[in-house]
Amino acid sequence: MTIPWKTEEWWVGSINYNEKALEGIEVAKSMCINETTLRDGIGQVGVSITEEEAKKIAIDLDQLGVQQIEACYLPRLETYFPNYKRHPLREIVKLGLKAPIWTLCNLERKTVDTAAECGAKGAYIEVYGMKYKIEAIYGLAEEKLIEATIKNIEYAKRQGLMTSLFLAEATRSELEFLEKFVKMVSSTGYADRITVCDTMGCGTPHSISYLVRKVKAWSGLPIEVHCHNDLGLATANSVIAALSGAEIIHVTLLGVGERAGNAALEEVSISLLVGYGIDIGIHFEKLLETSNRFQEITGFQAFPFKPVVGGKVFLRESVLGAESLAKFPRPTVYEPNIVGQRHRIAMSAKSSEFSVEYKLKEIGQTATKSEIKEILARVIECGKKKGSILTEGEFEGIVKEVKKR
Ligand SMILES: [Zn+2]
Repeated sequence: MTIPWKTEEWWVGSINYNEKALEGIEVAKSMCINETTLRDGIGQVGVSITEEEAKKIAIDLDQLGVQQIEACYLPRLETYFPNYKRHPLREIVKLGLKAPIWTLCNLERKTVDTAAECGAKGAYIEVYGMKYKIEAIYGLAEEKLIEATIKNIEYAKRQGLMTSLFLAEATRSELEFLEKFVKMVSSTGYADRITVCDTMGCGTPHSISYLVRKVKAWSGLPIEVHCHNDLGLATANSVIAALSGAEIIHVTLLGVGERAGNAALEEVSISLLVGYGIDIGIHFEKLLETSNRFQEITGFQAFPFKPVVGGKVFLRESVLGAESLAKFPRPTVYEPNIVGQRHRIAMSAKSSEFSVEYKLKEIGQTATKSEIKEILARVIECGKKKGSILTEGEFEGIVKEVKKR
């Protein structure tokens, strides 16, 4: 019998899969990712890429198995690609990737024209769904805004594009207005999907779940969810959206994006897999390699303790950590190899004999009990002097010296 909470790859609590705990969840029959690193993600402070770099990232994302790539903010392309020579959207489309390429347009026809000319598969039609911003940005009455939105979605459809009504600030909108807006747009039949955006990252798991269900009921269309991380809830909100029937989840590599960033691809996908047994269909084992390449290409440096792909999340230093590695065959909730990582041990003043033994095994060395004691004493001394962890070279040097005696 398969136990969903304890497989070869992960070992979480049975409570995660308890029927009562899961009451009320509604998972869509098919679910996929819209990877928006090349559109929203590059809004990350300090990240600026060229067309060539965008192409490399797009190829990596495609090889990772994401089902859709969103690239380029057409209304303000130059703010994300300040020195572009060829249109980055066209360049990405020309790669002929497996993942269809979508892009972000607004209410201006020319953005839709560009999307179609560049050969995009689909267009998000961005419109603010919040009264305050409608007045401030468009200077239009609500009815007029809805009319203009429908017109541009219809126009995009006529250009052969798939369409999604991209409701910016949906989580700060007024429910009655949102209902009217969604119902009017979906009744025309021009929109293929509706995107619920938590643009400012103020949504909570409860409000996101409620909104996804409501918009789904009002529209009868597939629902996308786009979450930001201002409250540190982007992953939780994306996961709850998936459990509330959303079909398409917007994410970025490492959660890059403006301010506190977007929902992180690696966090959302591993949470669904390990926490709920939902495989979103990416090649998990390529996550580390893909995120490392993204950092090399862009110069962006992720927090080393970033879940899943952080450089130090499977690195143990304390006596307890080392013991856990040495004594228990499965010391973490999922096996690091499923995301391209491995267990490692750091040598420092906090080390123990367990750490030394583990590290020796890792570098293919053996030592006697007394050598291990001596190595440990020198490791601790060096760690205290440095006030930080030892480099691989420092540890290997100590081993060499002790074994020479
Ligand atoms: Zn966004």
